[in-house]
Amino acid sequence: MALTGLEIYKQLPKKNCGECGVPTCLAFAMALASGKAALDSCPYVTEAARENLDSAAAPPIKAIKFGKDSVLGDETVLFRHDKTFYHPTTLLIHVSDSLSDDELNAKIQEIKGLEFERVGLQYSIDGVAVVQESGDAARYAKVAATVAEATDKSLLLLSNDVVALKAALEPLASRKPLIGSATADNYEAVVNLAKDNSVPVIIKAEGLEALEELVTKAQALGYKEFVLDPGSRTTVNTLENLTQFRRLAIKKKFRPFGFPVITFTSNQDPMEEIMEATVYVAKYASAVVLKTSKKAHLLPLMTLRQNIYTDPQKPIQVEPKLHSVGNVDENSPFYITTNFSLTYYSVEGEVETSKIPSYILPIDTDGTSVLTAYAAGKFEPEKIVEAMNASGIADKVKHRNIIIPGYVAVISGKLSELSGWKVVVGPRESSGIVSFSKTLS
Ligand code: SF4
Repeated sequence: MALTGLEIYKQLPKKNCGECGVPTCLAFAMALASGKAALDSCPYVTEAARENLDSAAAPPIKAIKFGKDSVLGDETVLFRHDKTFYHPTTLLIHVSDSLSDDELNAKIQEIKGLEFERVGLQYSIDGVAVVQESGDAARYAKVAATVAEATDKSLLLLSNDVVALKAALEPLASRKPLIGSATADNYEAVVNLAKDNSVPVIIKAEGLEALEELVTKAQALGYKEFVLDPGSRTTVNTLENLTQFRRLAIKKKFRPFGFPVITFTSNQDPMEEIMEATVYVAKYASAVVLKTSKKAHLLPLMTLRQNIYTDPQKPIQVEPKLHSVGNVDENSPFYITTNFSLTYYSVEGEVETSKIPSYILPIDTDGTSVLTAYAAGKFEPEKIVEAMNASGIADKVKHRNIIIPGYVAVISGKLSELSGWKVVVGPRESSGIVSFSKTLS
């Protein structure tokens, strides 16, 4: 049973020094009780209090780190709009040890090529799941070593054969792979293997009750670096399980399910597989293992993940400075937009397509889109003139024309008056820029 804020407060040092990041011990106790702070933030907690508080104040879903920089779990809310989600679902590509050497090398090269750029941010696939399907322990160890040597991505080593798992893991332990899976039949050997090598381990059982029982037994071995696999392989059952895990962990602080959850896609058709994966990314999977490694399949999934794991209170923004597209000169058109990344990059993409080198000045609207910014008083003529003066645009072009988004045509008069420039009303949507640009002379 979780402790209340007041119960936690009684065990804190009551120095009210603020070193934990909040002004008082009471505020810190409340943050601990709601899972929004970690006990380690207070340097003055006594050992006795730490023992009492550790389990009560632990985050509702434990953070599990593995590989290069993969962090699973450590989420504190059920819904993104309550606060934010912190650790984007780790995406891993399934690589079987039954592939031939040529197929294996081709697969590795394909995975290494999975790099994406969207709204100014870089993304790549996080890891590789090396799965034993050959039945040959030596082959499995060799494939795991080949993958590890060829890429620095996070590794998941998956085998039902503990001997094969050990042979593959031990030379790669410094890479801190995630290993799996510990089941009711082998959990002692697999959990002890993970413990001996200080790597996290997947605990797998079908059904919530069976999984709770197995987690409890595995913890009794003195180890807690777990990732849960509910064993379900249909989309509906997996979604149901993921939702139950998250609710029980966050709302009830039910400790056996206070670990990240991994899922495996089961659809063979790549497009259906991606749709299946989107369900898991949207609803609480900490990691998803996919079979497809085609860039075109994975881009929509990465886009969805980026959107879900963007802090809703901090939209992605571009620097509000003068940007140039192409080889600009003194005759180049001059566009105004906002610094919301999705808006800016839509405008930039269309300007690029128009093949007319142009200047774009995104106004600092705290990352809001044009209409939202205007409604909030963040896209006002005074602010635009201030940004124009700071950008030095007047020294870069000899004309005096500003192109503004069509949605804010209403500011034309005042902007013209304040700036002394001619205001040209551009298209409402960025998709109209290419045809609009042909009207510029
Ligand atoms: S650092 Fe510890 S003692 Fe200081 S205010 Fe925070 S909880 Fe209290």
